[in-house]
Amino acid sequence: MMRAIALPGIGIVAFFLLAAAPAQAPTPLVRGYDVLISAGHEGRPQSCPRFPTHHCNLGAAGERAWTPIVADAATSVLRSHGITVARLPADFAPSYAVRAAVFIHFDGAIPACSSAASVGYPSAGDRMAAQSWKRLYGRYFHFGFHPDNFSVGLRRYYAYRQTRASAGAFVLELGEITCPAQRAWLAPRLRWEGALIAYWLGRLLDKGHVPMPQKLSFAKRPANEIPAQVPSMVR
Ligand SMILES: [Zn+2]
Repeated sequence: MMRAIALPGIGIVAFFLLAAAPAQAPTPLVRGYDVLISAGHEGRPQSCPRFPTHHCNLGAAGERAWTPIVADAATSVLRSHGITVARLPADFAPSYAVRAAVFIHFDGAIPACSSAASVGYPSAGDRMAAQSWKRLYGRYFHFGFHPDNFSVGLRRYYAYRQTRASAGAFVLELGEITCPAQRAWLAPRLRWEGALIAYWLGRLLDKGHVPMPQKLSFAKRPANEIPAQVPSMVR
């Protein structure tokens, strides 16, 4: 029968078409934001079941409370200067085409105080911009930096795969939260750190005229400005 002869041919073509297709539907690509800012570990562990391919890393003790504060502060400053921000938690489904992407973290280490600040990025082309962040942050953060991309988590951060960033994608480890001296330095500066990141991104993108945040004076300030509750996510 004619059909019996014709169908296997179609079946073979269909087989090859299916074999060539990706195993999973590609995630949608979101465009139109200048910057992506993700708060490390934010939203976990609740988000983990929806992202089984992500390692459900909950971060160092206290880190999940801090990263959203820095991310929200950076987002607020950037938006108030006309720079659009996709403000994201740790896990998100789409891919983003942006100019710059920043993933905010604090390091944890055993033994305590064996780590410092560091920067990770997926491409050698992002190195110059990373150096500019280290020059800026290093003026204030006096506990030093580990070499760029010193850990697998920095070199191969899971969210790089969902990020196309023409001016660079960066994991910013802002210091070691498990080191009492670094923690004490960082704790009252979380919003200031966000403003410093916003300033750096404004310079990197040459957009928005984001001002340098004022150097904090702690003479008359409480030792700890962490709010009692984490502010709601700004999106
Ligand atoms: Zn982290």
